[in-house]
Amino acid sequence: MGVLPCDRRGCSNIMCDWVSMDFGHLCDDCLEDLIRSGPYTVIDQFMDTPKHPERWREQSEERYKSVFKNRHEVAQQTFEEAMENGREKETDK
Ligand SMILES: [Zn+2]
Repeated sequence: MGVLPCDRRGCSNIMCDWVSMDFGHLCDDCLEDLIRSGPYTVIDQFMDTPKHPERWREQSEERYKSVFKNRHEVAQQTFEEAMENGREKETDK
């Protein structure tokens, strides 16, 4: 059996069980990634997205948590800021 390198960018797997006339070969790992990416993924874009390194979870968490704030934490922060401001006002006297 010949070597069938995965056609996804950055993937070094050489034993691919999945093949498409349009997109080439795909390994089990990448097919799993593709499935997990949801049913609306543009396959072209997926093939051009490198395999997720370990750090991706961290990086994407950092990015999305800079956009979405946990409302309980925000409320706590606002409370603490209010306390801070209150203290500052008291020391102004
Ligand atoms: Zn692959």
